[in-house]
Amino acid sequence: MDDRHIPFNWPHLTGKELEYIAESQSKGQLAGDGPFTKKCHAWLSEQTGSKTLLTHSCTAALEMAALLLDIEPGDEIIMPSYTFVSTANAFVLRGGVPVFVDVREDTLNLNETLLESAMTSRTRAIVPVHYAGVACEMDTILSIASQNGLAVVEDAAQGIMATYKGRPLGSLGDLGAFSFHETKNVISGEGGALIVNSPALEGRSEIIREKGTDRSRFFRGEVDKYSWQDVGSSFLPGEIIAAFLWAQLEKAREITDARLRCWSRYHDLLADLEAKGVLRRPCVPEDCDHNAHMYYILLDTKEARDALLAKFRQADVASVFHYVPLHSSPAGQRFGRTSGPLEITESAADRLLRLPLWFGLTEQQQDRVVGIVKAELC
Ligand SMILES: *Cc1c(COP(=O)(O)O)cnc(C)c1O
Repeated sequence: MDDRHIPFNWPHLTGKELEYIAESQSKGQLAGDGPFTKKCHAWLSEQTGSKTLLTHSCTAALEMAALLLDIEPGDEIIMPSYTFVSTANAFVLRGGVPVFVDVREDTLNLNETLLESAMTSRTRAIVPVHYAGVACEMDTILSIASQNGLAVVEDAAQGIMATYKGRPLGSLGDLGAFSFHETKNVISGEGGALIVNSPALEGRSEIIREKGTDRSRFFRGEVDKYSWQDVGSSFLPGEIIAAFLWAQLEKAREITDARLRCWSRYHDLLADLEAKGVLRRPCVPEDCDHNAHMYYILLDTKEARDALLAKFRQADVASVFHYVPLHSSPAGQRFGRTSGPLEITESAADRLLRLPLWFGLTEQQQDRVVGIVKAELC
């Protein structure tokens, strides 16, 4: 990395990753569900209070959720359009129809007041996405879901270590999904976990993850042979990934705290620009403890956002925007439908810019980033 370049993300290593990978090799088990997977499972269960299963991605965990809920062709799943592809694609693989609703202006999370008008007799589930590790309004979402007999799958890809009213994200719905992708807070390159909060889904979750077999019960000595029980696939990571992840989970608090310091510093440095009305900073409701997954700013117009993006490029600072709303993407139009206008979604996609944020980003680098924002907007 040269001095001038500031990457958007830089994967943080705790230092133990290679040691644990070497240990996994010397233990002679490289396939999944060995000693390191067990450590990760125990840690994640402790953190969420629920059964958790490592997967090879959050995408895989969401696909497992769609299988567990027996989503059938034509079933409708309500979700934001302002999210990553996998939130919708996991259900589309089963023939489900994503029904896209708008997000809230403050958090850019699923707008819970629009859920009831999006429901039909085919609605099966709601998928809240905790954008930037800031919780959706879960009490309302869970109560609407239970009144209408709908399942709730939390896309908590960005949400590890964040809470809603003191409860960990991912542990609130029937199912939750974490991501350990390189760009997330706690990483294993590719990786994820399914959080199974509904006890009724626990047994089948193991079977679906192990190619449709009861191999997990066999490993625990509960059956004397294993066999094909149900549909499934291979959703589990090998031990090398789990060993890497264990080195990260051990330090999850430290990683989160370092990111929070960086996030808060941006927040302080940009306060006067918000007061002047030239940008909006992220909004974290009272009830939410976030995890500093991302720092974004919202500019007044797309032109202002694109101009600032160009300034960052000239200065060799990597900054990115997202998402291309799913309802306006080719597959979203083909497989899903919208409910009501998605004005806030479209506006956020046009005006949002994410600033570099990672463990190890220096104050000098942050000052340079903020300096570019100020030079452009003041
Ligand atoms: C990163 C992300 C995913 C996908 O995670 P993978 O582990 O890469 O499959 C899904 N949903 C959201 C909201 C994400 O940010």
